[in-house]
Amino acid sequence: MRLTRDPTFCFDVLRTDGGARLGTLHTPHGLVHTPAFMPVGTQGAVKGALFKDVAEAGAEIVLGNTYHLYLRPGDSLVARRGGLHRFTGWDRPILTDSGGYQVFSLAERRKVTEQGAEFQSHIDGSSHHLTPELAVDIQARLGSDVAMVLDECLAYPVPREQAAGSMERSVRWASRCRARLELLRSSSAAPVEISNGGQAQFGIVQGGVFPDLRRASADATQALRFEGYAIGGLSVGEPIDLMYDVVAETTRRLPPDQPRYLMGVGTPEDLVECVDRGVDMFDCVLPTRNARNGQLFTSQGRLNIRNARYAEDDGPPDPECRCYTCRRHSRAYLRHLHLAGEMTGAALNTLHNLTFYLDTMKRIRDAIAFGTFSSFKQEFLRSVSRPAHDS
Ligand SMILES: [Zn+2]
Repeated sequence: MRLTRDPTFCFDVLRTDGGARLGTLHTPHGLVHTPAFMPVGTQGAVKGALFKDVAEAGAEIVLGNTYHLYLRPGDSLVARRGGLHRFTGWDRPILTDSGGYQVFSLAERRKVTEQGAEFQSHIDGSSHHLTPELAVDIQARLGSDVAMVLDECLAYPVPREQAAGSMERSVRWASRCRARLELLRSSSAAPVEISNGGQAQFGIVQGGVFPDLRRASADATQALRFEGYAIGGLSVGEPIDLMYDVVAETTRRLPPDQPRYLMGVGTPEDLVECVDRGVDMFDCVLPTRNARNGQLFTSQGRLNIRNARYAEDDGPPDPECRCYTCRRHSRAYLRHLHLAGEMTGAALNTLHNLTFYLDTMKRIRDAIAFGTFSSFKQEFLRSVSRPAHDS
C-alpha cells in the first residue's frame, strides 16, 4: 500500500464560542467530534476496559503508545496482522505518539544525540536507537490515523538556553519526520510495510514555559505543513496557571483551520480551561490510572472509594452519571471490591471515569454549539472543584 494525502483526512471548525472551537476531524477510520478526549491504549488495550465499553462510553478515538508497541509485540508483527486496527479489533480512529516521551522518561537508560535517542528496553534491557525516521516508519507499520513526530521532551524547570536548544533540535527532528513521511508517500515501492494509506502526521510545538520560544517553535513547525499541531512538554510539574498561559500563547500562533492537540493533559478542570484556550484534542492516563487506585472523578468532585465513610454507602458513585457502574453498583460494593483487590473493581471504576471524561467532552461540545460555553465552564468548575467528598 502507498501512503497518500488521503482526502478523507480533514478538519472543519463548525463553530466557535470565545476561544472554544466545535469541530469535526475526518479520518480514514471515521469521524471524531471535537473537542475530543482520547483514552490511552498503551499496549493496544485501554487498561481495565473492553473496547466495546470504551466505544459505548463515547470514545471516538484512542491513543496507542509507539514505544510500547515497538518493543512488544513489535511494529512489523502488527503490520503483518494488517495494522493496529485489525490487530486490536478497535475499528475507529487511532492516534499514535512517537515514542519520544517514554524514551525520555527512561532517564538513566537513554542518551540523546542529534541523530536520535539511544535507549535500553525496560522489558529486557536490549539496546535501541530511536531516530525521527524510525519513529515515522514504526507508526507507518502500526497504521494509526494520526502519527506524531519525534520530539525532545524536557523536564521542568530547565534554563532558557537548554529549552531553546532542545526546541531547535525538535524542529530539526520534525523536519526529518516530515521528509521521511513524504518519501513514504511518494515511493511506489515503499521501504516499509504501510498499514494505513491515509495516515496524517502532526507536528509538536515545544519551548518549555518561555513564550518567545513557543512562538518560534509554532512558526517553524507550521512551516513544515503538517496536517495538525500538538502542544508538547506541558503538565510536567509547572504551575497550573503557567501551563494555561503557555497553551493560550501557543494556540494563538497556530493555524485557525487545523486541529490542535494538547498532549498528556489532564484533569477535568484542565480540559475545560484548555478548550477555552482553543484546544481540540486531549489524551491523559488520569481517568484509567486513577480508577485502578480507587479515585473516581464525579460531577461533585473527586471521590476516593477506599475511604471508610463509603463502607455502608448504598448510593451510586455519581448520581448524575449514566454509566453501567453508576446504574448498577453502590459505593459500598466498589469499596469492597477495591479492598479485596478484585479486578472487577478496577474495571467498574475505569468504566465510570472514562464515561465521566467523555460525557464532559460531550457537554463541552453541546455548550459550544449553543453558545453557552462560558456559563457552562463556570458552573462545571464550581461543581467539580468542590472540596472532595472525603478530603
Ligand atoms: Zn458512572
